[in-house]
Amino acid sequence: MTTAEEWNAAFNARPVHEYLETTVKKFGGRPAVDFMGKGWSYAEIGALVDQVACGLQAMGVRKGVHVGLCLPNTPFYTIFYFAIMKAGGTVANFNPLYVEREIAFQARDADVRIMVTMDLKVIYDKVEEVRKEKILDKIIVCPMTFCLPTVKKVLFSLFKRKEVADIPHDNAHIQFESLLNHGQTPQPVVIDPENDIAVLQYTGGTTGVPKGAMLTHRNLSANIEQMRTIFFDAVPGQERILCVLPFFHVFAMTVGQNLAVILGAEMVLQPRFELEAVLKAIVRKKVTLFPGVPTIYTAINNSPLTKKYDLSSIDKCLSGGAPLPVEVKENFEKITGCTLVEGYGLTESSPVAAINPLDKPNRAGSIGCPAPGTLVRFVDIEDGKTEVEKGAKGELLLNGPQIMKGYWKRDDATATTITEDGYLHTGDVGYQDDDGYIYLVDRIKDLILCSGYNVYPRVIEEAIYQHEGVDETIVIAVPDDYRGQSPKAFIKLKEGHAVTGEEMKTFLKDHLSTIEMPREFEFRDELPKTMVGKLSKKELVEEEAAKRAAA
Ligand code: AMP
Repeated sequence: MTTAEEWNAAFNARPVHEYLETTVKKFGGRPAVDFMGKGWSYAEIGALVDQVACGLQAMGVRKGVHVGLCLPNTPFYTIFYFAIMKAGGTVANFNPLYVEREIAFQARDADVRIMVTMDLKVIYDKVEEVRKEKILDKIIVCPMTFCLPTVKKVLFSLFKRKEVADIPHDNAHIQFESLLNHGQTPQPVVIDPENDIAVLQYTGGTTGVPKGAMLTHRNLSANIEQMRTIFFDAVPGQERILCVLPFFHVFAMTVGQNLAVILGAEMVLQPRFELEAVLKAIVRKKVTLFPGVPTIYTAINNSPLTKKYDLSSIDKCLSGGAPLPVEVKENFEKITGCTLVEGYGLTESSPVAAINPLDKPNRAGSIGCPAPGTLVRFVDIEDGKTEVEKGAKGELLLNGPQIMKGYWKRDDATATTITEDGYLHTGDVGYQDDDGYIYLVDRIKDLILCSGYNVYPRVIEEAIYQHEGVDETIVIAVPDDYRGQSPKAFIKLKEGHAVTGEEMKTFLKDHLSTIEMPREFEFRDELPKTMVGKLSKKELVEEEAAKRAAA
């Protein structure tokens, strides 16, 4: 087995766009992107990337220029992602569902003056307002008609508004087609993988204030190679990866798009998670790899539609972003016959930092072993420094070539997040067993301090998931006059199930200690989720706080 030191010694950082160039040479004729039935080969994508890079260079994009991408999963995302880097610039990812205020904040903070978006009115209008505030100089507009008429329908339903924007004819608005008229071969740019930022990726981090994680070419190159080592038996030029998680999120950017590029795999793009469309796409394209988040696998497990589709082409799935309940993993593997492994990462680690190895029996409930070339350390959660005894619970710290350079323009936050010897504070609490497998118990900020004890919401959620009627659950801390804080559980039941709070309590008595038993249960038809599909505590915590303030 290769040690972290050996892996790092053999690793050669490359500019991220070079991976695409290599694949274009090797697998030019192979399909690169499928978008609702329309396809582009690697040679076609490669040629468009070069043309767009020439156009961007003509607009002044070079080293140090940050270009925003505010796009759903469409071929444009991949074309611009690589073209910006090839022109020498940095990609700044924007969530197209952000409201105008969030786009404005991030554009200003990230020093983005050029934004790439689509002519879908509901996205374009917000970006145009930000330009009018003089935060942006130029907007590059990609036309929906470049794709297919049917795509319009999907994008309209995703964004719930059916209009195409009228784009003014002036210097501030650049049409995608006009970028293609500046040549076929961009000026070569010498990239310093160690220092040049490939992507500025915004995240709340452990403190909640949005910050731009500076992911260098080396960071992303490392995570691409780490994924390649992990997926050692994937067949170059033959795999088909379902890309339903949005590319503007670091998980899909790396484990969807960049993994596809190094493998010469076909990306099966889905601009939104709509269950039946996803099931159909898996069958139509015989998808082999399927990165997802637990809520997506849960939805597939629990839908009566799933029976109608043959999902046996799926070979491997990687779940990340949030804890994967054991019963979700087991059911999904039973339905599809695939291997569903759990991995772990965060924006600051490009993102993959740990994963269940594919050459060993994987351990349900564990996030797996450190990724190749990655070192871990567990420290006391109070002082954030002292290493805890082997096997004891502590905050997980990470060190490896995929750890970000720091936060953009926030040296203070960088200094508190990365130790002097290069370890990243993750804000996640866990422990490692004797075989190197890591188990997470929770995030520091989600811990419930109940009568002086640390109560882990994740433990309670795992117990609730064992009830056959439960579809999804979120446990949060609510103020408690007597105990300081106590757990409250929000539950979405599966269709056709009726359970009361008292019944749930009776069920949980065998699974939880008294201190862990939720004081309240609330049943809801839907639970809040982030754009990437992770169950989201934030809204519920805010709701509870507002309710209590009003009482
Ligand atoms: P983000 O930077 O927004 O991608 O969020 C990263 C956070 O997601 C981590 O710090 C963890 O708290 C959480 N996370 C990611 N993967 C897992 C996992 N497999 N199990 C539990 N939490 C996870």
